[in-house]
Amino acid sequence: MYRKNVWLQRNDQKDEIFKYAENYKEFLTNSKTERLFVKNSIALLKQHGFEEFTIAKQYKPGDKFYIVNKKKSLAAFILGSEDITSGLLILGAHIDSPRLDIKQSPLYEKDGFALLDTHYYGGIKKYQWTARALAIHGIVCLKDGTELEIHIGDNDNDPVFGIGDLLIHLSKQQMSKTLAQAIEGENLDLTIANIPLPDKEKNPVKQNVLKILLDEYHINEEDLLSAELEVVPAMKTKDYGLDRSMIAGYGHDDKVCAYTSLTALIDSKPQKRTLCCLLTDKEEVGSIGATGAHSLFFENAIADICHSLGKKDALYSARVCLTNSKMLSSDVSAGIDPLYDSVNDMKNACKISEGIVFNKYTGSGGKSGSNDASAEFIAQVFAAMEKDNVNYQTAELGKVDAGGGGTIAYILGNYNMDVIDAGIGVLNMHAPMEIVSKADVYEAYKGYLAFLKI
Ligand code: MN
Ligand code: MN
Repeated sequence: MYRKNVWLQRNDQKDEIFKYAENYKEFLTNSKTERLFVKNSIALLKQHGFEEFTIAKQYKPGDKFYIVNKKKSLAAFILGSEDITSGLLILGAHIDSPRLDIKQSPLYEKDGFALLDTHYYGGIKKYQWTARALAIHGIVCLKDGTELEIHIGDNDNDPVFGIGDLLIHLSKQQMSKTLAQAIEGENLDLTIANIPLPDKEKNPVKQNVLKILLDEYHINEEDLLSAELEVVPAMKTKDYGLDRSMIAGYGHDDKVCAYTSLTALIDSKPQKRTLCCLLTDKEEVGSIGATGAHSLFFENAIADICHSLGKKDALYSARVCLTNSKMLSSDVSAGIDPLYDSVNDMKNACKISEGIVFNKYTGSGGKSGSNDASAEFIAQVFAAMEKDNVNYQTAELGKVDAGGGGTIAYILGNYNMDVIDAGIGVLNMHAPMEIVSKADVYEAYKGYLAFLKI
């Protein structure tokens, strides 16, 4: 159904909608980084009969397996009864979110505090990250091969960290600056300690931090050079609103589409076509590198599967398979915010709680950088939504010249497959606390299930 309020349409399914939301809330709270998301996805996949892919094994229709890429991206499959070259049905989402990364040489002392220097990742409004509780999640790899996971700030008894902001009393000059200039990227440093180590003349607070790092975490300052530590909001995902209709959390973009895509695959029965859920990293910085959507990982994974299925020219078969594939680029869209509705063309904007939202194209200006889905494919997808009574809407990302943004749609489109963006409306996109509607989360899950039967 096009542009109907999901709460009214699914009045008798409120319990189911809320139950699905509870599972998502817990998953998101525990999956704030791409590494954690992959780790928790693997656990969920294994629980539901998926195994790690091995090239030497002979797979048959209905088999379920997954391939992990460098612990930061993942593709899961349910093998179809048709030859794989007839193409996949893919749900593709990204699992990285805007955040602050700790620099390689981060630790310094100033004015009696120890601080960690950070470098922001993705598109953030810097002022949103000051004066709020932050957690650190990541990994420290020692030269002897040991990998230490670091998680501080999200357990009840953990300390939290923060970035200082200037008191309003002395902010006369700062308040005259633009929002973009008021907080400088180089000033987004994390306060982590204040107690000096006795009998140390030089940097006694930093010395004390190094002692704590060695005693409690068995790492020294040099080990931080290779570490990957991400600073994220220290908060549990919570119900939002008196009616509990919405979810407040960090990283809905795009973990909400990743979770709904993953669970839709898990809950799907084997079909003629092979079904796939692709979770990629680095979308917020251009889908670059080994774990981003531009990586050869996915193409190689399909080639590996073709090889295991006995295809003589696995790489060519992979190309044919990808060309014949169809994909929903599962990514969030900008929901209409009542305080800022003027940035939208209201006829072509995403309304919260009106269901899964399709963006024929994203991009900016004259559709620059977008994947422009074809009419034939869109009609086919909408027919699938109607068939399963899925509530859906169409939208653009704001008014034509208001700004813009992109997704991984065009990257998979480059394989010559049909792709359209389909996801969930978000408020406060890229802020430390983003908002989605439980109704839209459920409807996206239903929409993804419907797509996997096309
Ligand atoms: Mn996104
Ligand atoms: Mn984003």
